[in-house]
Amino acid sequence: MDGLNLDDLNLKRSNVKGKRITVVGAGISGRELALMAKRLGARVFVSEAGLVSTAASDLFGRSGIDWEGEGHTERAFQADALLLSSGIPPSAEVVQGARRRGIPLIGELDLVAPHIRGKLVAVTGSNGKSTVTSLIGHMLRRAGWEVGVGGNLGTAASTFTDRDFDAVVLELSSFQLARASVLSAAVSVVTNLAPDHIDWHGSYEAYVEAKARVLSLRAPSGWGIVQDRDVEALGAAGAERLLTLSWSRTPVHRMAGHIFMDADRACLMWDGTERTLFRYSETSLLGGHNRENVAMSLAVLRILGVDLPARVLMEGFAPLPHRCEHAGAVDGVVYVDDSKGTNVAASVTAMTSLEGRKIVILGGRGKGEDYAPLAEAVVREADAAVLLGEERDAVADALRKAGFSAIRMAEDMEEAVLTARELARPGMTVLLSPACTSWDMYANYGERGDHFRSIVRGLKVGP
Ligand code: ADP
Repeated sequence: MDGLNLDDLNLKRSNVKGKRITVVGAGISGRELALMAKRLGARVFVSEAGLVSTAASDLFGRSGIDWEGEGHTERAFQADALLLSSGIPPSAEVVQGARRRGIPLIGELDLVAPHIRGKLVAVTGSNGKSTVTSLIGHMLRRAGWEVGVGGNLGTAASTFTDRDFDAVVLELSSFQLARASVLSAAVSVVTNLAPDHIDWHGSYEAYVEAKARVLSLRAPSGWGIVQDRDVEALGAAGAERLLTLSWSRTPVHRMAGHIFMDADRACLMWDGTERTLFRYSETSLLGGHNRENVAMSLAVLRILGVDLPARVLMEGFAPLPHRCEHAGAVDGVVYVDDSKGTNVAASVTAMTSLEGRKIVILGGRGKGEDYAPLAEAVVREADAAVLLGEERDAVADALRKAGFSAIRMAEDMEEAVLTARELARPGMTVLLSPACTSWDMYANYGERGDHFRSIVRGLKVGP
């Protein structure tokens, strides 16, 4: 995508000793990368297009790292290579500038992965990454392993390079993978594929190709886990050491093993045996999609040789906030916060996998997606839709096209919740799963979910 390959580099990516390295970006990923490159003996300079936070400038000051903010000057290009933190898009001017000058670009993972000391578990996919990453981390810890958990989720990947671990579990975004050429994962997971971040990658194909790299960059003995339905798209039909998951006993693709989602349990059919991974009654996570998340996570533990019962491994796992999370119940109506449902596929999943009729709250800032599949799910699952944010007219159009007319517009979250309450009957669920980002009205999905929850908490019982 950035035209990166090892041949056009005159330095081995992970060996930056004595080299002049400009780290692009002073966010969490960039800060940690700068520290890591410095630890490895590089001469580090940090360049940030926007404002540099006081925390970052203090840190650079303490660590003896020079930096610039509010734009990239010529100084940024006086380097043997540019090290890109995880969110920098290929279209960024600084990336183009480096290419014009013939300066090599290094993606975050190429510097980090060779320095990870422990079994690497790499998790990607369109939805469910954070849930699966944190669940695998939790279960390995329950099994007594020394584990690092992070990547795209919380702690930057480079943080796990300064000591030994039994395993490091990383959530990897398509952005990070698009630039990766080394990884050596012991286990790679692609939770599922659906259109997302097309604006960044340019096309759905380019996005899927980035995700597929997590499989092609496995260690020679590494295993992979994917959805049976995604095998073709990932170009994995002939791949070895691959487990597939589906709700059918007989997968379409015959790979090394299969995770079968049965009516009341998930089974692992592998090595000529069939064994129960877990019973659905053993998890408190809501929805069929979460059962898939649990099944894939447990399969990772089995691959790593951990054989403790699922019940013991899952004990104490708290669902991540804002992912189909119970937010309250008033007058027989349940309120569910799925503010992390920021693309069509995630919201369709949330709607479909929660039982009962719903009033859905949708809208926010769009990502250029087609809302027709969303509208289909609304027709099937919901009695009414309350719309807000920049995309409310676009979503309303799609709903009307699908023949759905129970649409109400809201100016803000308060109005949306009150309107949903007015429409909901006892036994129904009011579901916030916007299918859009929160960036038109909030700093992030967490703030949007918290706001929803606080409004729900304030609802009084009775008319
Ligand atoms: P990610 O890290 O990939 O964004 P999360 O675990 O944070 O995924 O979940 C984000 C949202 O995606 C959830 O709120 C839920 O609506 C949806 N989701 C979670 N797991 C799955 C899955 N396995 N399949 C489809 N949708 C899912």
